[in-house]
Amino acid sequence: MKHLDLSSKVRSECADGTTSRNVFLTFDDGPNPLCTPGVLDVLAEHRVPATFFVIGAYALDQPQLIRRMVTEGHEVANHTMTHPDLSNCGPSEIKREILEANKVVRMACPQASLRHMRAPFGIWTEEVLTISASAGLTALHWSVDPRDWSRPGVDAIVDGVLASVRPGAIVLLHDGCPPGELKPGTDAGLRDQTVMALCRMIPSLHERGFVIRSLP
Ligand SMILES: [Zn+2]
Repeated sequence: MKHLDLSSKVRSECADGTTSRNVFLTFDDGPNPLCTPGVLDVLAEHRVPATFFVIGAYALDQPQLIRRMVTEGHEVANHTMTHPDLSNCGPSEIKREILEANKVVRMACPQASLRHMRAPFGIWTEEVLTISASAGLTALHWSVDPRDWSRPGVDAIVDGVLASVRPGAIVLLHDGCPPGELKPGTDAGLRDQTVMALCRMIPSLHERGFVIRSLP
């Protein structure tokens, strides 16, 4: 199946055409009971909002973290039910992946307003876009990826963001790990580097005149 030209169809930045230096933080692959609370603590300490693209199967197990996200002013968004490569899925499976994740988030927190969807691995297809739109979700990619999931070191994550951030940037970070990538007995799925990087990244962005905002 043909992947889309992202630049034309899926939003990866939110520049508003003004001189405002807005930046948007997004976290994928949670909620994770070991990682998400630390991320939420840092965001609360600095009073900045974020968008969490959650996996429905995890939201089912951690409804209290979904409620905490919403209560603390963050957006909860759709990252499918089980995190498959949707380009390998038929239309009915894509629909089920997206609608079930919506349902689980609403069950955990009826006040959650689901507005955005991000395809696992950032792999978009025409069908994914059509089905997302019919579920009332806007497809959202990213423009800054410090590859925090690969645990490259705190400096590499902070520097990776600061080197490529610009007004309207959407930053991709992770507060969890997809089911297929969890390796029991290792720290591959832990996001301690992301949390430490966040502690430094937020003040550094502020010093550079950026304002961290909720998605419009
Ligand atoms: Zn993901």
